Amino acid sequence: MTKPLNNAVLSLTPDKLLDFQHSVANIEGLVSLTFGEPGFATPAPVKKATIQAIEEDRSHYGDSQGEPKLRSAILDYMADRYDLHYPSIDNVIVTVGVTEAMQSIFKTLLAPGQGLLIPDPAYGSYFSALSLAGGTAVPIDTAKTAYKLTPALIDETMAQTKEDVHAILFNYPNNPTGVTYTKSELEELAEAFKRHDLWVISDEIYSELTYEGDHYSMGKLLPDQTIVVNGLSKSHAMTGYRLGFILGPSTLIQQIQKVHGPLVFAVPTFIQDGAVAALQIPKEDLSFMKVEYQRRRDYAKKFLEDLGFELVAPMGAFYLFAKLPADLGVNGWAFATDLAHQAKVSVIPGAGFSFFEEAQKFIRISYAADMAQLQEGLQRLKKYVDKQRAA
Ligand code: PLP
Repeated sequence: MTKPLNNAVLSLTPDKLLDFQHSVANIEGLVSLTFGEPGFATPAPVKKATIQAIEEDRSHYGDSQGEPKLRSAILDYMADRYDLHYPSIDNVIVTVGVTEAMQSIFKTLLAPGQGLLIPDPAYGSYFSALSLAGGTAVPIDTAKTAYKLTPALIDETMAQTKEDVHAILFNYPNNPTGVTYTKSELEELAEAFKRHDLWVISDEIYSELTYEGDHYSMGKLLPDQTIVVNGLSKSHAMTGYRLGFILGPSTLIQQIQKVHGPLVFAVPTFIQDGAVAALQIPKEDLSFMKVEYQRRRDYAKKFLEDLGFELVAPMGAFYLFAKLPADLGVNGWAFATDLAHQAKVSVIPGAGFSFFEEAQKFIRISYAADMAQLQEGLQRLKKYVDKQRAA
C-alpha cells in the first residue's frame, strides 16, 4: 500500500506516559505504583444490574445522548452530592468515560489551531487528545504558586499568549499533584474565567476523593460557561466500564451532542444500567474507599518525606507529586527508569505531565493500588535510594 496516512495523526507526539509505562511493563516482578487504577472491586449492585441488563437483552442501540433513566440518575446524584442543579436531562450527555467527553468537547469548542489553557502539570492524555482535536495547548506554569492555579496566573498567561484562546481545562482534585481548591479560591478563579470570557471545561473526575473539606463544583459558580465533566471510573472503581458524563447549558450540550453522536453513537445500554445502580448506592456504602485511600496517602506521604522527598500538598485524588531529593543528583526520567530496572518498582517521571523544566525534578506515585503493594513498593524505593546515597 502506497497511499499516505493522515499527516495530522502521523505528527502526533506519542503519549509520553504510555511510552514510559510500556517500556517498564515487562520487567518481571515489578511493583507498579504508576496507574490511577482503583484497587477495589466494582460494587456488587453494579455487577448485578449489569448482568441482569444483559440477560434481559438490554444490548441494542440506546439513546445517543444517554438513556433517559441514567441521565435522570446523574441529575439526582449531582444535586445530592454537590448541590449542582440542572433543569432537565437535556443538560446531560453520557460518554465513554471522561476520555471521550474531552474529545467531543474539544472538537465542539475549538476550531483548528485555537488555544486551550491548561494549568500545568496536567493529566498527560489531555495533550494527545487536544492534538487529535486540532487545538493548541497553552500551558500555565503553576510551579511557583504551590501548584495552584491563581487569577494572576490566568491574567499573565492571557496577556502573554499569542494564541486565540477560547477555553480553559481545569482539573481538580488534580492529577498528578493531588491539589484541590476551597470555595473562596474557586470564586476568585470564576471571576477570572468570566473576565477573560473563557469556556471552562471542569474535569472533576476525582471529586469524591477530596480529603480536606468538601468538593465544590465550578458548575455551581459559573453555570453559563462551565462544562462539568465527571464519571464513575474513580469514585466507583469502574474504570473498565468506560462511563463518564458531561453537564452544561443545554444549548452548548446540543452542540457537543453533534460531535458525540457520530463519534460513538451511544454508550452500551447494559453498561448504562449498571451505572444507574452505581449512582443509587448510598454515599456511606462507598466511603470505605475514601477512608482507605486517605490511610495510604498518609502512610506514603510520611514515608517519602522521611526519605527527603518534598511533596506537593496532596489534598485529593490518589497521587503524590514528589520532588526528588537534590542529593540524588538525577532527573525524574533517569530516576524512574533506573528504579524500575534496579529495584523493580515503577513510578512515573514528572515530565510526563508537563511542558516546563521544573517537572523534570519530580516523580508521580500512585497510591490507588492496595496497601501491601504500596508498602512493598516504597520499601524497595527506600532500599534503592539508600544504596544510591551510600555509593
Ligand atoms: N481525567 C483525569 C484527570 C484522569 O486522571 C483520568 C484517568 O486517570 C481521566 C480523566 C480518565 O477518565 P475516564 O476513565 O473516565 O476516561
